[in-house]
Amino acid sequence: MQPFTDSADVVNYIGGKRERGAGDRTQSVFNPATGAAARRLVLGEVADVDAAVASAKAAFPAWRDTPPIRRARVMLRFLELMNRHKDELAAIITAEHGKVFADAQGEVARGIDVIEFACGIPQLLKGDYTEQVSTGMDNWTVRQPLGVVAGITPFNFPCMVPCWMFPVALAAGCTFVLKPSERDPSAALFMARLLTEAGLPDGVFNVVQGDKIVVDALLAHRDVKAVSFVGSTPIANYIYETGAKHGKRVQALGGAKNHMVVMPDADLDQAVDALIGAAYGSAGERCMAISVAVLVGDVADKIVPRLAERARTLKVKNGMEADAEMGPIVTKQALERIEGYIATGIEEGAKLVVDGRGLTVPGHENGFFTGGTLFDDVTPDMRIYKEEIFGPVLACVRVKDFSEAVQLINDHEFGNGVACFTRDGNVAREFGRQIEVGMVGINVPIPVPMAWHGFGGWKRSLFGDMHAYGEEGVRFYTKQKSIMQRWPESTEKGAEFTMPVAK
Ligand code: NAD
Repeated sequence: MQPFTDSADVVNYIGGKRERGAGDRTQSVFNPATGAAARRLVLGEVADVDAAVASAKAAFPAWRDTPPIRRARVMLRFLELMNRHKDELAAIITAEHGKVFADAQGEVARGIDVIEFACGIPQLLKGDYTEQVSTGMDNWTVRQPLGVVAGITPFNFPCMVPCWMFPVALAAGCTFVLKPSERDPSAALFMARLLTEAGLPDGVFNVVQGDKIVVDALLAHRDVKAVSFVGSTPIANYIYETGAKHGKRVQALGGAKNHMVVMPDADLDQAVDALIGAAYGSAGERCMAISVAVLVGDVADKIVPRLAERARTLKVKNGMEADAEMGPIVTKQALERIEGYIATGIEEGAKLVVDGRGLTVPGHENGFFTGGTLFDDVTPDMRIYKEEIFGPVLACVRVKDFSEAVQLINDHEFGNGVACFTRDGNVAREFGRQIEVGMVGINVPIPVPMAWHGFGGWKRSLFGDMHAYGEEGVRFYTKQKSIMQRWPESTEKGAEFTMPVAK
């Protein structure tokens, strides 16, 4: 597989066409494996947001009135095109994000799952109906699309996270403006082109590249009815408050600090494999990455040496190399932030078992690489425990028993994902019941729910009521209407001055 080599400027996609945009501000998009600026991103301005929203608004009435089954057929063609071009898309992701190619393929596959789900929209939009709520009168509910909706997405899943949003929104009859991450913006344009090829009418799906200027313009725009956001917690909080202030429906998914509890009765081979994959996969740049191992009783003494051995021997390479297990970090700034946290951990008194800093990959001396880092004896008061590092750093916390493990996790400000490894059914059951986290894995380290179950954390990992995709996604992009109907022939005549009751 050849890496993506298109060196053209990365621009907007408005009304079914690539558009250069109104402004002159540009920013480099790097290939993190080489450290080279590979493309130039033209950052959008308020005028670009206005143009994209106007295009989406103009396309809305006809798209809303397109029968759901015909909207689903467009999605089916898009699904077919995504399957046909999935490796090309994965290569684009690796070239801009850095994750290993097989992992990028996995991301595309999970995005495709949601497109498949959205193809079932006629069934999902079925309302309910009560015949004869009163004599000669029926009452039913329908869900109708909101109008123009926006998505603002993070760098770490440039295909999958947008796919949590737009396939469901479009199938439901909304029109869409996507603001992808400025770090890896090309996947969004690639999917926009495929949507047009699938027969999506111009203006139904638009992309505006950019930064806070574009985000703020979307949040304030009176014609944007809802905003879906995925990113870090401070920005999610800001999006939720600002969007709500402007009267919009908002779902804002934030950051994470995911724990994995290893009970003394767990299969320790499985637990070690799970921790290594979930902590270091995608260089820890996953909102469902495990960044804290909660080791119960004597588990730590048994598995920390094994984790150390595996962390030390991780194959850290350009993600396009077939045997790479971990690629580079997305940007130099992110690499510096992560290595800064490692220094903080040492100052705070955590035991640095494996130090990934300063790694050089032969032939990629300017790439943004760091190795896997492992800390032991981490305590809840440390910044490396409390804050999201978003890099390949695993913190081991030792606890005496199950109750202490549950308490530790429930006290944390984030509640995105969590896992418990055990062979005891009752422990597993109690863990699922007591834990204050939105997505729970029992012997499953990264429990990302399937497309029809919906994705969302608790506490400061999700602002808003509704999860992404699944039936909650359909509800998010639609509003309920209740209709009551009777016909003159079937009703008694005469004005009614009291609250109507069934007759
Ligand atoms: P980020 O918050 O920096 O950026 C997310 C989006 O917000 C981007 O499109 C960015 O352009 C925009 N943005 C950034 N700063 C802004 C500002 N000041 N005002 C308005 N908009 C702004 O996040 P990121 O670094 O791209 O992604 C990593 C973060 O996303 C991590 O915290 C990770 O946990 C989180 N994440 C969460 C989930 C989830 O489902 N909960 C999924 C993926 C990623």
